Amino acid sequence: MEIENDPNIVYKGDLDESLDYATFGDLLVKCLKAGGDKISMIDGVTEQQWTFNDILRESIKAAKALYGSGIRQNDVVSILSENRIEYAAFAYGTLFLNATIAPTNIAYTERELKHTLDITRPKYVIISKAAQEDLEIVKNLSYVQRIILLDGDVADDGRQISYNNFIDKFARNDFDVERFIQQPIKIFEQVGVIFMSSGTTGLPKGVELSQGNLIACAVLNFEKVKLGLQLFEKLVSLSVAPWFHAMGFMGKILCVTSSALTLVYLNKFEPKLYLRCIEKYKIVTLHIPPPIIIFLAKTPLFSKYDLSSLKIIVCGAAPLSREVEDQVRERFNNEIFVMQAYGQTEATLGVLFCDVVSAKPGSVGELVKGTYGKVIDGDGKSLGPYKVGELCFKGPLTMIGYRNNPSETASTIDKQGWLHSGDLGYYDEDYQFYIVDRLKELIKYKGYQVPPAELEGVLLSHPKIKDAGVIGIPDEVAGELPFAFVVKEGDLTGQEVKDFVAKTVSNPKWLRGGVKFIDEIPKNPSGKILRREMKELYKSMKSKL
Ligand code: AMP
Repeated sequence: MEIENDPNIVYKGDLDESLDYATFGDLLVKCLKAGGDKISMIDGVTEQQWTFNDILRESIKAAKALYGSGIRQNDVVSILSENRIEYAAFAYGTLFLNATIAPTNIAYTERELKHTLDITRPKYVIISKAAQEDLEIVKNLSYVQRIILLDGDVADDGRQISYNNFIDKFARNDFDVERFIQQPIKIFEQVGVIFMSSGTTGLPKGVELSQGNLIACAVLNFEKVKLGLQLFEKLVSLSVAPWFHAMGFMGKILCVTSSALTLVYLNKFEPKLYLRCIEKYKIVTLHIPPPIIIFLAKTPLFSKYDLSSLKIIVCGAAPLSREVEDQVRERFNNEIFVMQAYGQTEATLGVLFCDVVSAKPGSVGELVKGTYGKVIDGDGKSLGPYKVGELCFKGPLTMIGYRNNPSETASTIDKQGWLHSGDLGYYDEDYQFYIVDRLKELIKYKGYQVPPAELEGVLLSHPKIKDAGVIGIPDEVAGELPFAFVVKEGDLTGQEVKDFVAKTVSNPKWLRGGVKFIDEIPKNPSGKILRREMKELYKSMKSKL
């Protein structure tokens, strides 16, 4: 990898372990075998448990049937399902064949679903009862040759077949998966997964991650788990992240590639069930988006459960304020590490991580090894410490590009291979990074830049504010004015909210646009505030006046 000679480029050194695997399947099988009969995944609702061996067996079964029915290298298999064992089996089975897995959001509207499937054009779609409503849409797509139903019993009608019948009918027992995955391929060119980008500002794009990206992500995790095990005897993690999102999918990959980690998964966030799972399974680590950490900071249910097993909370996916971070730490009597991590699907999830030793409050941590980072100004010039600009990354975690979208790819990855994140931030003298906000989401008040995430953090520090979302509303004179949607708990007036903010932040950041109380802040499944929807909400509010 060519790197310019520039003193402002940050690098923490090479990866400790090599990426020298023939295929991602090669790494996966080695890891699953190492885990053996230890518990790898637990369904938090049904309490079903899966050992590493179980996952290996089911994945090989799926690979044999996919192969036997005609799936080959580069074919795309999409999954529309809640988190469950068959999801993992098909995802790994597809990857074993050097085919591409395209996890798809089951909450998509018809328009979004068609848009995303038209990007990935899967040959097969695997679909569960939870995505039943999507079945009719999928049936009408001519490029989908086979639909595998995870629930119910459907004989093969040439196009639709149930899971059990698919395995029974097509599993090619003479196909040696373990030998197949030993044949080397170009791991950084082979598309392993296509995730959909968040779509917080527009329709989603298909993010192509290579098998090499997945291997690099797993290898980085070996190092983190090693460190975790020096501090804690056993690492049990709880996750509600859906597996169609990078956070859930990589979490699953990471847990199976680390024989020292058990993952308890849920399909949706229900406060009591969530806390019960922490208590019952003695959860040690949580990787969560801000809405859940805000819940932990504020819920009155907190004292009703024994949460003393929790030792590490890592928060990522959206900005988290220093205030909320401190509130959670205090609730656990400072006997817990609360840290942030930063990444994006385009960077195979995580590029900046805090570590338990050097984490600084409010920071999202340091660069992971093997990845270069820099902060640039509007002219593309690299900046030194404490200068706010766009974060850029380059290394083995950088995506291949956006599926069938060369123009968006070229505007995201430049000619030197730098991935432009679209996020604003800076680093300090110790090369710890801090996120300011999304570049595109900054509010411009009379030319001043107002980061909505900062105002949301301030609002959340108010004891009677349960949640908040801030947008810029158009104004003829000032350009934009900061406006807040607030979910309140107890008596609170709009003026009190405005006064509170005015006391805390500088003049351009005051809530001159106003305050509106609502029941819920619109968020996507990974916990990001959907400012697009809040802007629509504001428009419809205005038109009713
Ligand atoms: P996704 O591709 O869905 O994982 O979203 C990636 C985006 O989430 C990034 O570009 C950031 O805007 C945001 N993000 C992720 N982690 C953090 C974090 N720790 N703090 C602030 N924003 C974050």
